[in-house]
Amino acid sequence: MHVAIVGSGPSGLYTADAIARLFPDAEIDIFDRLPTPYGLVRGGIAPDHQSTKAVVRAFERTLAREGTRFWGNVEIGRDLTYDELKAAYDLLIFSVGAEKDRALGIPGENFPEVYGAAAFVGWYNGHPLHHDLEPKLAGTALAVIGNGNVALDVVRVLAKTQAELGDSDICEHAARRIGAAQLTDLYLIGRRGPVEASFTPIELAELGELERCEIVVDPQAVAIDVGPEVPEKEVKVRQRNIEILRSFAARNGSAKAMRIHVLFNAAPVAILGDGSVTGLLLERTRVVDGRAELTGERFQLPVESVVAAIGYHTPALPGVPFDEKSGRFKNDDGLIEPGVYAAGWCKHGPRGVVGTNRTDAGILVKRIAEDLAAKPPAGGKPGAGAVTALLHERGVRVVDFAAWKRIDAAEIARATPPKPREKFVTSEALLAAAASESES
Ligand SMILES: Cc1cc2nc3c(=O)[nH]c(=O)nc-3n(C[C@H](O)[C@H](O)[C@H](O)COP(=O)(O)OP(=O)(O)OC[C@H]3O[C@@H](n4cnc5c(N)ncnc54)[C@H](O)[C@@H]3O)c2cc1C
Repeated sequence: MHVAIVGSGPSGLYTADAIARLFPDAEIDIFDRLPTPYGLVRGGIAPDHQSTKAVVRAFERTLAREGTRFWGNVEIGRDLTYDELKAAYDLLIFSVGAEKDRALGIPGENFPEVYGAAAFVGWYNGHPLHHDLEPKLAGTALAVIGNGNVALDVVRVLAKTQAELGDSDICEHAARRIGAAQLTDLYLIGRRGPVEASFTPIELAELGELERCEIVVDPQAVAIDVGPEVPEKEVKVRQRNIEILRSFAARNGSAKAMRIHVLFNAAPVAILGDGSVTGLLLERTRVVDGRAELTGERFQLPVESVVAAIGYHTPALPGVPFDEKSGRFKNDDGLIEPGVYAAGWCKHGPRGVVGTNRTDAGILVKRIAEDLAAKPPAGGKPGAGAVTALLHERGVRVVDFAAWKRIDAAEIARATPPKPREKFVTSEALLAAAASESES
């Protein structure tokens, strides 16, 4: 059976692993638009969360398996079409994630100092599409809109000292710019209350351990308990978040150089400015049935940059059925159309941690096996042979697993310890590193 997987992030690689276990003879081709594998594990997860990134060791084993091939630097929709993949493979799985920022939908969002989290995080993580974002980080105050872990990542990375980031793999250009910024006040803003925040406790608690940054929480804002409306399985996490926030609120304050102000029940109304950002207009909310209701009471924050971390959507791909409303591929429990499936964030939207994709992949592959048992593939499809010819014709420089390992080795070699790696951040530099040894 010839299998194509589009996207080499966690969902693609866990799906590949599950398929290989169930169908040991399957030939699995994993495509990624970037010359590097691992999706958000490389380009999204915070650079100071190295232990989370250790999952790549398992992913590496998946990519190195006999019968599995990595096709980096091949973008589906640009280098190969949906129809070409369907013609070449018996089974096709999309696992392209959800890499576009959701818009805030408020006036002022197009000011140059307003950044989506995908772009901002991609900038400090050296994503080739975002490495040159050069966020201004102007002035002394910046707002991060969002109440999830991505928002926490952004404020934490901005608040850390160069020494605290020393053993991270933050890109040099970003470390330099963050180090030179004069930021003193970071605002972490949620439309709803502390009970609704989707932080995880470990990440929230980290904010309390920053060397140069104090965390400011209004005790009134966290004098609230988790109510019966919270789903049973989430009660413990939400309670723990409230406890952590209360412990922050009880702090006496200190003379640290920076502050993170945690603001709840504040809906962004407009980004203020005249060509560039001068402030953020917010309206107080109250939570009714889990939803934020505006109260009419408005206030302003004097910020000079804004990062919006309010969620992501999947970009549409020519020919692949797409649901505009939810911003992901149309699918029925993973099935897009016979022989074509979706996995991970492009299937169910941007939620869950890396490990969630493993569980989901197991469920999806079980379903695929049932579908295949009910209607086995007709067979006779050419698999990799067909796409090799097309990519050759189109002059696409494919980065295979060995070439990725050359990039990997070169990045590690050029880092100054304790930094684990210094990433190449442009496609050109990545392709040069991919080619280096083979051409020498
Ligand atoms: C900022 C951020 C921080 C996070 N931090 C953590 C954390 O600390 N711990 C944790 O457990 N989880 C974390 N997560 C969640 C975790 O990253 C996701 O659960 C996981 O990456 C989703 O996997 P995925 O495979 O669906 O998508 P992705 O990881 O996005 O992978 C999609 C892949 O598809 C490729 N692709 C896209 N379009 C195409 C195309 N047209 N052709 C070919 N290839 C394509 C992309 O290049 C990418 O490699 C974080 C997420 C974000 C956004």
